[in-house]
Amino acid sequence: HVMGVRMESRMRQDLFNQYERMSFSYFDRHNIGDLMSRVSNDLFDISEAAHHGPEWIIICSIEIIGSFVILALISWRLSLALALTTALLFAYSLVANKRLADLFRDNRKKISQVNSQLEDSLAGARVVKSFASEDVESEKFARSNEAYLASKVRNYRGMGIFTATVSGFTGILYTVIVVYGGLLIADGQLTPVDLATYALYVSMFLSPIMTILDFTEMFQKAKAGFERFVEVLDTIPDVEDKPGAPALRMGAGRVRFEAVRFSYDGENDVIRGLDLSLEPGKTVALVGPSGGGKSTTCALLPRFYDVRSGSITIDGQDVRDVTQRSLREAIGMVQQDVYLFDGTIGENIAYGKPGATLDEIHAAARAANIAEFVEGLPHGYDTEVGERGTRLSGGQKQRIAIARVFLKNPPILILDEATSALDNESEHAVQEALAELASGRTTLVIAHRLSTIKDADEIVTIEDGRAVECGTHEELLALDGTYARYHRMQFEGVHTL
Ligand code: ADP
Repeated sequence: HVMGVRMESRMRQDLFNQYERMSFSYFDRHNIGDLMSRVSNDLFDISEAAHHGPEWIIICSIEIIGSFVILALISWRLSLALALTTALLFAYSLVANKRLADLFRDNRKKISQVNSQLEDSLAGARVVKSFASEDVESEKFARSNEAYLASKVRNYRGMGIFTATVSGFTGILYTVIVVYGGLLIADGQLTPVDLATYALYVSMFLSPIMTILDFTEMFQKAKAGFERFVEVLDTIPDVEDKPGAPALRMGAGRVRFEAVRFSYDGENDVIRGLDLSLEPGKTVALVGPSGGGKSTTCALLPRFYDVRSGSITIDGQDVRDVTQRSLREAIGMVQQDVYLFDGTIGENIAYGKPGATLDEIHAAARAANIAEFVEGLPHGYDTEVGERGTRLSGGQKQRIAIARVFLKNPPILILDEATSALDNESEHAVQEALAELASGRTTLVIAHRLSTIKDADEIVTIEDGRAVECGTHEELLALDGTYARYHRMQFEGVHTL
C-alpha cells in the first residue's frame, strides 16, 4: 500500500507539472473540472491496481502452478479436463473484460462531467445567486449526476454478469471433475480416495484463479484511468522553448510586431497582418472596437500563443527563440480581471517577486497607492484576501495587482485598463499608480476610455486585427478617421468602447 500511494503521489505531481507546462490554448480547450478529476479520481484506481497487481500475479502464479502440478500427479486425465475448462474461463474473461473496459471508460467520463458541472456552478455561485437560478443549477447538476449514476449501474450490472458467469464456470468445473472422475473410477483408472483428494485440491487451484479474475477487473478500471493520465502527459504544449534556447537579453526595450497573423482555431485569422512598433520607454495605447484583437495582440507578446506567421521581436530577438521564463520575467501585466490567490495581502503582493523582503513589499504597496489602505486594516499586510480576493473591492484588487508588478519591476509592461469598472476615486488612485508604473518602461495599453490615453506617446487603432491608424492624440484627431469618431462618441456621452 505504501508503494501504491507513493506511485499515486508521483503521478499526481507529474500530472500537475504537466498542467503547469501547458499553454493558454490548452486551458481554452479544457474544462477545469475535468482536469481536476484526472488528478483526484483517476489516479486512485491506478495505484490500487499497481500495487495489488504484481503482488497478486506473483503469488497466484506460484499457487496455480504448484497446485496444478500436485493435481496432475494425482490424475493427469482429470487435470487435462481441468485445464481445458480453465482455458475456456479465461477466454470468456478476455471477451467480457473488453466490454467492462468500455463501461469503466464511460464511467470516468461521467464522473469528470460531474466534477466539471460542480466546478462551473460553484465558481459561478455569485452569478447563480444574483439570478436566483439555484434550481436551474440544481437541475443541471442532477443531470450529470444521474448520468453518472446510470453509468455506475451499467458498470455494476456488467460486473454482476461477469461474476455470475465465472461462478457458473466453477460449478461446471466441479461437475466435470465429479462426472469424469466417476467414469474414471468405474473404469478402474482412479481410486475414490484420489478423486476425493483431487476435488479438495481443486479449490486450492481455483482460489488464485478467482483472485486473478478479480484483478483483471481492477486492471481494466485502472487502465481506463491510466489512458486519461497518459492522454495528458502525451500532449505536447503548443508553446515550448526551442532546444537550447537562450535567455532574453534585454536592451533598451524596443518591441516590434511585423506582419503578424494569428488565429485561435487555425482557420479564421483574428490578427491579420499587424505591424506595431514600441519605442523604448514609450507608451503605445491600443484602441478600437470590441473584438478587434487588442487583447489578442497583448497575449502574443509574452508568447501565451504563437503567431501563425510574421514575427514579434524584443530588442531584435524573436520571442519564439528565447526561453519563456526570461521572456515573461521581462514583461509585467496588469489585467482587467485580477486574480488574487488565497492568502494574505502581503503574500499576494510578494507574488511579483518570490522572496521579496517586507520593505520591498511595503515600497511596492506605496508606489501602487494601496499602502495607506492596507496599513489601516487591523491586520495590515497579514489580512486574508479570501478566495480570489473576494474580501477586497475591485479598485483594491487592481492596486494589489499593480503593486505586484512594481515589485517584479519588468522593463516591458502590458496594461489592460479596467478603470471603466471603477468608481471615480479608485479610478484616480489606479490611474495614478499605473502612470507611475509605466514611466520609463516600454508600455502597451489597451484603452477602454479615451480620456486616460491622451498622453500616450502613440495611439494605434486596431480594427479587424489590423492597425488602421497610428499617431498622437492630436494627429489622430486631425486625421478625422476612426479615432476621431470614437472621440466624438465619448463626448456625446458614450464612455466606453
Ligand atoms: P478586443 O480585445 O479588441 O476586444 P480580442 O483580442 O479579445 O478583442 O478578440 C479578438 C477576436 O478573437 C474576437 O473575435 C474573439 O471572439 C476572439 N477570441 C478572443 N479570445 C479567444 C479565445 N481564447 N479563443 C478563441 N477566440 C478568441
